[in-house]
Amino acid sequence: MISSELKELIINEDCNAFFDEPMSLHTSFRIGGKTECFCEVNTEQALKNIITACRESSTPYFIIGLGSNLLVNDDGIEGLVIKLGGEFEEIAKCGEDTIRCGAGVSLAKVCLFAKNKGLGGAEFAWGIPGSVGGAVFMNAGAYGGEIKDIVVSSRYLDEDGKIKELKGIEQDFSYRHSAYSNKKAVILDVTIRLTPKNKNEIFYLMQDTMEKRKKKQPLNRPSAGSVFKRPDGYYAAALIEECGLKGESVGDAQVSTKHSGFIVNNGKATAEDVRTLIEKVQDVVKEKTGVELECEIRFV
Ligand SMILES: Cc1cc2nc3c(=O)[nH]c(=O)nc-3n(C[C@H](O)[C@H](O)[C@H](O)COP(=O)(O)OP(=O)(O)OC[C@H]3O[C@@H](n4cnc5c(N)ncnc54)[C@H](O)[C@@H]3O)c2cc1C
Repeated sequence: MISSELKELIINEDCNAFFDEPMSLHTSFRIGGKTECFCEVNTEQALKNIITACRESSTPYFIIGLGSNLLVNDDGIEGLVIKLGGEFEEIAKCGEDTIRCGAGVSLAKVCLFAKNKGLGGAEFAWGIPGSVGGAVFMNAGAYGGEIKDIVVSSRYLDEDGKIKELKGIEQDFSYRHSAYSNKKAVILDVTIRLTPKNKNEIFYLMQDTMEKRKKKQPLNRPSAGSVFKRPDGYYAAALIEECGLKGESVGDAQVSTKHSGFIVNNGKATAEDVRTLIEKVQDVVKEKTGVELECEIRFV
């Protein structure tokens, strides 16, 4: 429960606060109950002040990027949901082949910025509908590339309000995992290193990636992308299909008929519908193939 003191502090900080805000407006699944306060924070100082106040008043907070990998509970989120806006949405070239991106910048903006500067290497991320912060947290990847391939270092705010930096291997990237996956930290900005490349070549690679996505993924329906991680030696979608679960549904949640690794929201799906469907898929796949499907999407 947000105290009146904390509410007052939030209102006076450099941020845009919305109270009793439906999270369905902020997730690509279009699912999620209300949060007590959805707070788009514009400056590092405001972020520090708000997080310190949350810690001191034992108010829970959750950092959201673009909400494209989340299943938010129907009961909503207690405390604050913090989104990084303002100065966290800035992007700039900071060397011959390096770019510094605020954690709130979308991957789409990074790809376009890099293309316009004639820097290649980020094309794999074209079409991943997340932010830089979310992508580093998850080590997002596609079509042979991963965020770990281009990230040099990242700055973050720790739980005690101190700013720190992780460089290179300290970021502990592995498949859909980073050092941040088990940390209560806010990624502030990220430095990425790319390679000089012909702009046309970059453009065609991006276009090719998007064509592949359009062909394979149900982009016309709300979803959170691939629900399950790729199990060692298998493809989740192929296993799900093999088990006859393509098109399986619970309420308005459905295993996509276009890509069985996706669950789509056909209109009024609840988080409970999606959860029940996920458990059903996991149970059937385990029973029929012996493979355990681990979730890639995060439950909030
Ligand atoms: C149609 C579709 C296609 C997709 N395709 C891909 C794909 O090809 N590859 C892939 O890897 N993913 C894919 N995804 C999933 C998703 O887009 C990625 O995981 C993305 O990186 C999530 O970023 P986000 O900003 O939306 O993070 P969110 O979903 O908002 O958050 C994800 C996690 O990151 C944390 N987080 C976010 N920002 C910060 C921050 N600044 N500091 C600390 N923690 C933070 C959150 O707390 C949360 O735990 C797809 C999703 C959709 C809907």
